[in-house]
Amino acid sequence: MKISLALVTTVSTGLLLVCGLASTVLGGSVTLPGLCDVSPSAASSPATASAGPPTTSSAPAPPASSPACPVGAWTQPVHASVVSGFRTRSRPTHNGVDLGATRFTPIRAASAGVVIVARCDASTGDCDHDGSPTVPGCGWFVDIQHSGGVITRYCHMASRPAIGVGDVVTTGQIIGIVGSSGHSSGPHLHYEVHLNRDRSSSGAINPVAFMQAVEAPLE
Ligand SMILES: [Zn+2]
Repeated sequence: MKISLALVTTVSTGLLLVCGLASTVLGGSVTLPGLCDVSPSAASSPATASAGPPTTSSAPAPPASSPACPVGAWTQPVHASVVSGFRTRSRPTHNGVDLGATRFTPIRAASAGVVIVARCDASTGDCDHDGSPTVPGCGWFVDIQHSGGVITRYCHMASRPAIGVGDVVTTGQIIGIVGSSGHSSGPHLHYEVHLNRDRSSSGAINPVAFMQAVEAPLE
């Protein structure tokens, strides 16, 4: 998981993404120790933890390798293939994954949370037109704060996000539509996952591994 941390550059403005549609190979296994504070069984049956022994429970034991998150379910923000991976050898500062969804595909909140950013990236400037590899920034984008200090980021939307800062969103709620605003070579969703409430590049982890861990694997 941390093999490429040494390659993280200091993009002080935080949102200079390197996006594209070139296929890359995802490699390496990842573990996410300490991702969630609550055990999978507790997360799947909240409010019953102290109600007595679950003598009638027939729920199978959760796999030890798939820790659940403390509140709510997770879902894929779009159903589309990963077309460019997280911090690949050729793109070591790519702090998310590119999901090859078509233009105007609805983007869904990956989990319940509070919207902490919903705007046009200042470094992009004009977000209402398609960007290009020479245009900087995330375009129209959204950051959502989830429980456990997890933040998800959704970039390059086609238009102003459907939600605003302070909005409480539910898992799967539509927050915008896929576009190509900002530093983007074509319509796709750039999706990031951050831990420890750290919106900077140093807080970013591999979304593929994370989404597997929360049982909403990316395609
Ligand atoms: Zn990207």
